Amino acid sequence: MSFWDSIKPAKPKAATATSLELSADQKTVSIVWSDQATHMVPARLLRQYCPCAECVEEWSGKRTYDVEQISVDMKVIEIAPVGNYAITFTFGDMHRTGIFNWELLRELADKTVTPPSPSTPA
Ligand SMILES: [Zn+2]
Repeated sequence: MSFWDSIKPAKPKAATATSLELSADQKTVSIVWSDQATHMVPARLLRQYCPCAECVEEWSGKRTYDVEQISVDMKVIEIAPVGNYAITFTFGDMHRTGIFNWELLRELADKTVTPPSPSTPA
């Protein structure tokens, strides 16, 4: 192995979610990633960026509604895995056709602010 091989950065592997947990009030999904990142993603944000054909016009990529009109009280009722590459959410408005792959989910999660780690020892 040459010197150059040893400093070549490893190709970044897309992070996958290792744990998804719905908060008690169902308004937040906490996601733990394979790269150790943790996000608290609001249900509303997930609903706003649902990628399904009903929510995004396939030919234009345009969203069919104003994301600001999504209720601030939006909840996630159920989380279900799709194979090992994505998950689906059943939202409070019973919308459940969106398939969120890890890439999209991470993109949305990155829009949120990572909560500060609690100062109290575990
Ligand atoms: Zn949708």
